[in-house]
Amino acid sequence: MPEVDTLQAAVRDIPDFPKPGIIFKDITPILGDGELFQTSIRLLAETAGSTPIDKVVGIDARGFIFAAAVADRLKAGFVPIRKKGKLPWKTHEASYTLEYGEAVVEIHQDAVKPGEKILLIDDLLATGGTAAAAVSLLGQLKAEIVSVSFLIELSFLEGRARLGDHSIASILSY
Ligand code: AMP
Repeated sequence: MPEVDTLQAAVRDIPDFPKPGIIFKDITPILGDGELFQTSIRLLAETAGSTPIDKVVGIDARGFIFAAAVADRLKAGFVPIRKKGKLPWKTHEASYTLEYGEAVVEIHQDAVKPGEKILLIDDLLATGGTAAAAVSLLGQLKAEIVSVSFLIELSFLEGRARLGDHSIASILSY
């Protein structure tokens, strides 16, 4: 089986979690399998192409799992974008709505220098609200986003449309 098909087959659909009508994509079967996890990290790292990456930025919380491992692979730094109230120093913030709820995300003001090349990673692109907020934070820091990359894209929700003309990549698409 092609490796993306093997990855896709491992994603577990959980109907009505965390609320009715949502089909939650459970990635823990990928995380728990050494080979599948390594494949997912390699494929996400490849979305940077040949551009040297200064920092991989991960979105709270499942984005951290992938972004930190990709950063190690690319010999880049890792930067967390966190839900409001978790970062200890001066922050920029952006609010957003997601498929199930509303939230504010923050980044440390000194996390990225102007012009640094960034790979932005989250586990899943749904409506695009979360990623759009992350993109706006990186815009405030004048970062250069090389790719906004996801393990999973729910393409029927058209989240890409909210990410402007940035390069967007997803490994698995539904
Ligand atoms: P959105 O802002 O609508 O693109 O939602 C993306 C964020 O919410 C990601 O960080 C995902 O972890 C989470 N998320 C949204 N929908 C789902 C889903 N159906 N299954 C798993 N995670 C989801």
